[in-house]
Amino acid sequence: MSITEPVIIAGAGPVGCTAALRLAQAGIPVMLLESLSALPETLRASTFHPPSIDMIDELGLADRLIAQGLVCRHYQYRDRRTGEIAEFDLELLRGLTQHPYRLQCEQWKYTRLVWQELQEKHATHASCHFDHSVKGVHQTADGVEVLVWDRGEEKILRGSWLIACDGADSAIRKALAIEFEGFTYPEKFLVASTPFPLETKFERLSPVNYISDPDEWLVLLRTPTLWRVLIPTDPAIDDDARWLSDEWIQERLHHMAPHESDYEIVHRTIYRVHQRVAKTWRRGRVLLAGDAAHINNPLGGMGMNGGIHDAWNLAEKLIQIHAGEGDDRLLDRYDRQRRGVCVRFVQEQTIKNRQAIKSKDRQAELMRIAADPERATDFLLKSSMIASLRDAELID
Ligand SMILES: Cc1cc2nc3c(=O)[nH]c(=O)nc-3n(C[C@H](O)[C@H](O)[C@H](O)COP(=O)(O)OP(=O)(O)OC[C@H]3O[C@@H](n4cnc5c(N)ncnc54)[C@H](O)[C@@H]3O)c2cc1C
Repeated sequence: MSITEPVIIAGAGPVGCTAALRLAQAGIPVMLLESLSALPETLRASTFHPPSIDMIDELGLADRLIAQGLVCRHYQYRDRRTGEIAEFDLELLRGLTQHPYRLQCEQWKYTRLVWQELQEKHATHASCHFDHSVKGVHQTADGVEVLVWDRGEEKILRGSWLIACDGADSAIRKALAIEFEGFTYPEKFLVASTPFPLETKFERLSPVNYISDPDEWLVLLRTPTLWRVLIPTDPAIDDDARWLSDEWIQERLHHMAPHESDYEIVHRTIYRVHQRVAKTWRRGRVLLAGDAAHINNPLGGMGMNGGIHDAWNLAEKLIQIHAGEGDDRLLDRYDRQRRGVCVRFVQEQTIKNRQAIKSKDRQAELMRIAADPERATDFLLKSSMIASLRDAELID
């Protein structure tokens, strides 16, 4: 059954963009709707794992993205009290991925590249619209009618399928009354970004560092221009102004690495962290992907990466349907595969990552794993999300 009406994709984040480009490259008409007037450039995800880079390579964009990021072969787990370092070398994954490294690169650089590619090379199959906010959907036997606000004007757009990539607050998930099951952590996370060369303050700091401590754990992530420091706040005090204040951030950074003057802070954000998965990722002709379908804490960088893997899996199924190689039951398999690994692997792993970074005992175990190439490879297969992609393939 060839797809003639466009697949409507709500949301031009990394997940909607991946789905749109993959489908357009296969000759399937797509309509990408973004509620904002321009692509957001907020600092959110900055880690691309190896299999995501492999996918972006198949889209023909890896070289251009890599040129704008930092290639990180190593990453570290450090114990704040003992100073011990467990370092993992992604080179161990050579042969299992075309890109045995993490790419540290802001997610907006990726969406900008995809948007350009869609406009410049796929205008016959793809139409991209800003200021189009999806509000609801009505399903018919053979299509969807999507209710959209276009600069204050209501209109209905007709398509074959609707992919909801409209983020954690998904209007589509809510309109369909799909439960978003899970929990919210008591503490908020603060991310402060500084151009200061933090690598001068620590011995052999790698671009990605998880620094454990029962009370004062933190994550240090390098992007091409900034160091991003992620710190938890005290759950007993609900006072964003305090956590975002210069005073508190400087005090935390100086406690982490004493310095003779204030650190320059160019960006700061505080946010609530959740572990939630939508109860179903398919409702008839509507499919959920990315943050609309699942959210987790950012330790391990699995939110955007998992979302790109959803988009890839879903696009493959639609391409098969378009080519007459299967019917819409393939989309139930999308739900079983991606929702399955999300619940069994991504949620579990990220919850463990948060427990581990607070634990006193985890460092010794990580040191043993890092020192044993076989165990380290196994560890990297999981943390790089290659294992979850393999697991999904085994789900019928
Ligand atoms: C501080 C921070 C750090 C993070 N670090 C990492 C990391 O290193 N690695 C990682 O994998 N993940 C990370 N994440 C998570 C990652 O940012 C998200 O998982 C990712 O952005 C999800 O992509 P998405 O396309 O599903 O949703 P989004 O990026 O939220 O995009 C949704 C898009 O839909 C648009 N939209 C919303 N509503 C509508 C509507 N009704 N109609 C049309 N358009 C709509 C929005 O404007 C937006 O452009 C981090 C998150 C935060 C907050």
